[in-house]
Amino acid sequence: MTSEIRTMIEPKDIKAIELECGKCHASTRRQIDNWLQDSSSCPNCGDVWLHINSPELNEIKTLVMLIRGLATRTSNKHLPFNIRFDISGTVSEKRTGNE
Ligand SMILES: [Zn+2]
Repeated sequence: MTSEIRTMIEPKDIKAIELECGKCHASTRRQIDNWLQDSSSCPNCGDVWLHINSPELNEIKTLVMLIRGLATRTSNKHLPFNIRFDISGTVSEKRTGNE
């Protein structure tokens, strides 16, 4: 028998974004609901990650705002449906006595 485990998360389940420095590999977490957009450099080694007005940093800011907005809308039932993200699952095999 093969079974698949699916992990579904809702926007309100996303609490933080983790940023890992490509240079020193230190990681830092930013809370979705109060991120102050202060992640243009590594807090550990000081490596400049992105310039403050770079398109990449603006994309991350937009992503955070979208997650925040979807979390509010789905929590307040402002949408006629639920939104869930399907996270990569794990496949496991389990043998039974009949095989
Ligand atoms: Zn670093």
